[in-house]
Amino acid sequence: MKKYIYADNAATTQISSKALEKMMPWIHDMYANASQPYTFARQARKAISEARESIAECIGAKPEEIFFTSGGTESDNWAIKGSALSEKKRLETITTVFEHQAVLKSCNAIKQMGYPVKYISPNGVGMILPRELKDSLSDKTRLVSIMYANNEIGTIQPIKELCEIAHSFGAVFHTDAVQAIGHVPINVQQIDFDMLSASAHKFNGPKGIGFLFVRHATKIIPFIDGGSQEQGYRAGTENVPFIIAMATALKENIENLKENQTKKKLLESTFFAEMNKSNIKFIKNGGSNTLPGLISISFPGYDGEAILHRMDLAGISISTGSACNGMNTEISHVLKAINLDEKSAKGTIRISVGKDNTTEDMVEIASKLKIIVLEK
Ligand code: PLP
Repeated sequence: MKKYIYADNAATTQISSKALEKMMPWIHDMYANASQPYTFARQARKAISEARESIAECIGAKPEEIFFTSGGTESDNWAIKGSALSEKKRLETITTVFEHQAVLKSCNAIKQMGYPVKYISPNGVGMILPRELKDSLSDKTRLVSIMYANNEIGTIQPIKELCEIAHSFGAVFHTDAVQAIGHVPINVQQIDFDMLSASAHKFNGPKGIGFLFVRHATKIIPFIDGGSQEQGYRAGTENVPFIIAMATALKENIENLKENQTKKKLLESTFFAEMNKSNIKFIKNGGSNTLPGLISISFPGYDGEAILHRMDLAGISISTGSACNGMNTEISHVLKAINLDEKSAKGTIRISVGKDNTTEDMVEIASKLKIIVLEK
């Protein structure tokens, strides 16, 4: 049978076998509500507490600074809205034009409530320059929210410097690390983030679970009101199996991080070596410091959507650089932000390699891509 190639790991990853195995007993056998006082529930409480400790250890945090959420979208919503509503004096939020919609729409929501939002733009390779942030900051800025790495073009930001600049103006710093965590080293003792969003399904955990790191004493209001779970800040019966799977997947990824990084970089090189064997013209987006395995390339004058569908017919899953909006194929806000010309932006695709992809996969992807592009 023909092999199916999955190369859209920035969209989601396959749950690891270990994470799946660890979570199964908590779905069927040990199903107690962790808030109950009896022995049966105590096991679940202990497992949640161990998962929290393990996640905290993976990023250098304290367990009480890890708050479980339903994923990256909720974490971003909470960080942005929860911070705005916590403060009456410094009202302004600064973010970038090329954040994920979870951040952009949350910023839009607080804007509607009367909180000013300022947007800064990246340069041509998708980098937020520290001086751009410096020029935008003032004593009115309460929060700066800048993603660790971009989900469409993979650019890793000079995040430590950006965080330090925000702090020098007395602002709180949040990073959406959804694409980065579990793939590049992140430690909240080395970088002084106040808040950090994460989502399990991007690091081989299940979908619908994530966390928000909130450093001790950071001003934030509860996001979901109800029971007293998550120290009263995020109510709702805990999803014990998913929490355990997330902790297992993160630990596994962190333990193998170096090895996976090297492998994905090698797979990237194989892909580009294969592409360079032809004289097809393409642009590599995102500059030189990108997430390992995230390849954004543009074929000027081609249609990224058409390439995606032809690749799909060939049994290969990739993504485009543009989001479909009803009948119109709009150019993505990220590609607009880096000033990619329209012809190139429309011909952009994203190939995101995972730790389980192989050299043969990369050769096959490049070979199919070359056929598709040459046949146009
Ligand atoms: N932030 C970024 C950068 C993402 O790439 C995504 C998902 O694609 C999210 C947030 C949303 O995460 P989730 O799917 O867990 O809601």
